Amino acid sequence: MASYYGKSFDDTHRDLRIKLPVEFPVRLETTSIKRVTKLSDADNGDQSYGLTVIDEDKAGNPINAIIYIARNLPKELAEYILVHEWAHIIQTGAKYKEHGDYSFGIAYAKCWRVYIGED
Ligand SMILES: [Zn+2]
Repeated sequence: MASYYGKSFDDTHRDLRIKLPVEFPVRLETTSIKRVTKLSDADNGDQSYGLTVIDEDKAGNPINAIIYIARNLPKELAEYILVHEWAHIIQTGAKYKEHGDYSFGIAYAKCWRVYIGED
């Protein structure tokens, strides 16, 4: 059965899982924009449409992760957010929340290559 955002979104999710896999379980949940914003703990007043939360062991290794994607978004935007959040899932060598480290840029590029069918 298709998820909240339907087949194209699910195909993107499947491609990312297959082509850029990780060793730990990753759950994807769609929820309200209000909840994603609250979980994001953003203090700048902006709404948040996506968030990745990774549980780590004491050594800092990922145990499991949840990707939250807000509901009621245009489907295309929801897919772009999924691509962004998957970059956090595969990101290594930096804390997963950070975008400034080069490791995010590399991870994000890899996810985009999968999304546009180049990998
Ligand atoms: Zn991010």
